[in-house]
Amino acid sequence: MSKSKSSESVKVVVRCRPMNEKERAAKFERVVSVDVKLGQIIVRNPREASSSEHPKVFTFDSVYDWNSKQIDLYDETFRPLVDSVLFGFNGTIFAYGQTGTGKTYTMEGVRNDPERRGVIPNSFEHIFTHISRSQNQQYLVRASYLEIYQEEIRDLLSKDQSRRLELRERPDTGVYVKDLSSFVTKSVREIEHVMNVGNQNRSVGATNMNEHSSRSHAIFVITVECSELGVDGENHIRVGKLNLVDLAGSERQTKTGAQGERLKEATKINLSLSALGNVISALVDGRSSHIPYRDSKLTRLLQDSLGGNARTVMVANIGPASYNVEETLTTLRYSNRAKNIKNKPRINEDPKDALLREFQEEIARLKAQLQKRSGKKKRRRQRRRAGEGSDGEDLEEGETEDDDEDGEDRGDYWREQQEKLERERKAIMEDHSLVAEEKARLLKEKEKKMEDLKREREAGEMLAAKVKAMESKLLVGGKNIVDHTNEQQRMLELKRQEIAEQKRREREMQQQMDSRDEETLELKETYSSLQQEVDIKTKKLKKLFAKLQAVKAEIQDIQEEHINERQELEQTQNELTRDLKLKHLIIENFIPLEEKNKIVNRAYFDEEDEYWKMKPITRIEDDHQMMTRPLSAVGYRRPLSQHARMAIMMKPDMRYKAENILMLDMDLPARTTKEYQEPVIAPKVAAALEDALRDEDEIQVDASVFHSSLGPTPPASASSSLKKPKSGRPKTGKKSSTPTSPFSPSSPGSPLYPQSRGLVPK
Ligand code: ADP
Ligand code: MG
Repeated sequence: MSKSKSSESVKVVVRCRPMNEKERAAKFERVVSVDVKLGQIIVRNPREASSSEHPKVFTFDSVYDWNSKQIDLYDETFRPLVDSVLFGFNGTIFAYGQTGTGKTYTMEGVRNDPERRGVIPNSFEHIFTHISRSQNQQYLVRASYLEIYQEEIRDLLSKDQSRRLELRERPDTGVYVKDLSSFVTKSVREIEHVMNVGNQNRSVGATNMNEHSSRSHAIFVITVECSELGVDGENHIRVGKLNLVDLAGSERQTKTGAQGERLKEATKINLSLSALGNVISALVDGRSSHIPYRDSKLTRLLQDSLGGNARTVMVANIGPASYNVEETLTTLRYSNRAKNIKNKPRINEDPKDALLREFQEEIARLKAQLQKRSGKKKRRRQRRRAGEGSDGEDLEEGETEDDDEDGEDRGDYWREQQEKLERERKAIMEDHSLVAEEKARLLKEKEKKMEDLKREREAGEMLAAKVKAMESKLLVGGKNIVDHTNEQQRMLELKRQEIAEQKRREREMQQQMDSRDEETLELKETYSSLQQEVDIKTKKLKKLFAKLQAVKAEIQDIQEEHINERQELEQTQNELTRDLKLKHLIIENFIPLEEKNKIVNRAYFDEEDEYWKMKPITRIEDDHQMMTRPLSAVGYRRPLSQHARMAIMMKPDMRYKAENILMLDMDLPARTTKEYQEPVIAPKVAAALEDALRDEDEIQVDASVFHSSLGPTPPASASSSLKKPKSGRPKTGKKSSTPTSPFSPSSPGSPLYPQSRGLVPK
């Protein structure tokens, strides 16, 4: 068996779906024609006048029109791929195209209709039928189902749907999804159940199923392991992995005017798809040594399928109607490029991570254990028999038993033992010569023995059941999966396959002939006259000219497309730059510099996950990172002996309380208020105030002067607003002795006017 094979190209097929009701109702023009014989798709662009004369022609490995049946696709295109997976190759089937063009229809199809079942269910049938027909081979089939949405991987078969999985890489087996669940399946029904569970989970997570499915990539993975006795007398295991990928819709997300969250999501979807495009370009280009697999989860996960160890079929789905023509052309160009990817598939023989090997080893171990048990029993039995010498049976019998008899024999043995114990028990009961105590003791002993016997028996049965369960997972041809399919059906399949092969060869030949025709035509031709030569050459010139025009138009188209794409990318870039600027602005203005620096110092880029992460906060003293704690004292700052730990808890003294021995009072909060301080007052004012605050009794006013000059109006005291120093009229509180007052107190004993205050006569 040759382990390696020379490189082979990615196979690209195109499928055009029929017009749907809406399109027919709106009377859209059909712009796509399909030449199944030649493997060509011909597209007229209704927006370009010249295109009716020079339609765009794309050639593929095979093409399928709106009348194509699911089974046609399967027999011609997918069956050979699945066959090679059964043989130990890796295989991948991609469905690519705009939303609503039939990706899911091609991959899954209509579940309950055998006619319209897609590749995935058809491959189930294929795989298990193949196994049932195999001979001298052991198979193990398991399935996983995952989804990539916004660059996050979700396991569609796990119970916890909120969990996101990570990609990991191992040098020997490559990239894999960590903790992805996979289920061993024994029949078509079981694997269908796995798919249904996954599909349910897929729609549960989505608010709008249609939208969600058009924005996420779904990957169904079937791993087939096959063990077979090689020519060297050793068991060899071959492992084939089949990836069935329903990609997100390829339409431009930016065109739909997405903004905010939606835009972010769009850029992420575009990330995976455009990364896929970039990978394809880089692979086809041949000049670039770096293939940007690491740019997205999808390309990383399917790295092997693109330019690596796998056989790959890409199905490009297109719609026929005129309003989709741009997308259709984009899809066709995209897949046209993918044709040139070279893969290097090889049979995966005896890989380290084969589950089948583990199963086989486990079964062997359990069987050995079982053998040992029954061996022990047999020996015991023989010993007993020999000792008792009851029947004088042949001692050899135990050794000559074979496996089939073993079970039966074991049953006999158990029964025999039980009966014997029972007999002995009875004998003890009936034996009157024994003392009651002795009797009870013996009885107890016997009962215990019986119990032991029972337990041992159960353990043995459990072990046997376990072996059986494990063995049932390993599938062997000829029984237990599909009813023995009759020879006729098999012949039919073979014939169908032959026809498909024939068709393929025919198509290839036709393609070759066409291209050779043009080359050889001119070599063969001889011209009878000059005029004829001119005619023929003119005709040829015209033909070539048309071709030239077509190529030129194509170049222009591609350029335009590039420009569009670039504009879109620029637009996305602008959006992102704006976003970045805003974030910078916030950081600059609202986050203290030292905090920022701290965060910057803690941040690091995790190469494995391709994500920025934060180091845990550690106390950094003198630039030394804090040492990790010695393990001898988890939770303590220093190593502690068990004795010390006990002493801390039990003894009141301080001997072992090295930790947290210092009790500190709580810090009081700093004061934010001040003591009251009197305002500083100018001496003059102070004097005036003091004067004003004097007791009323001390004030003496001479009223006699008033009496004579002002009549009955009693004059207010000069120092009126005594108790109101803040009255704003401190001047009124002048000392009565000041010369400014004409009514200076002079004569003691004069009558007082104690009442009115606050008014100063003018
Ligand atoms: P996608 O997964 O690409 O978004 P779907 O597979 O959901 O598209 O197809 C959209 C609709 O078109 C579905 O209703 C499907 O049944 C129908 N359809 C797609 N391809 C075909 C086909 N070849 N024949 C008949 N119906 C089809
Ligand atoms: Mg879909």
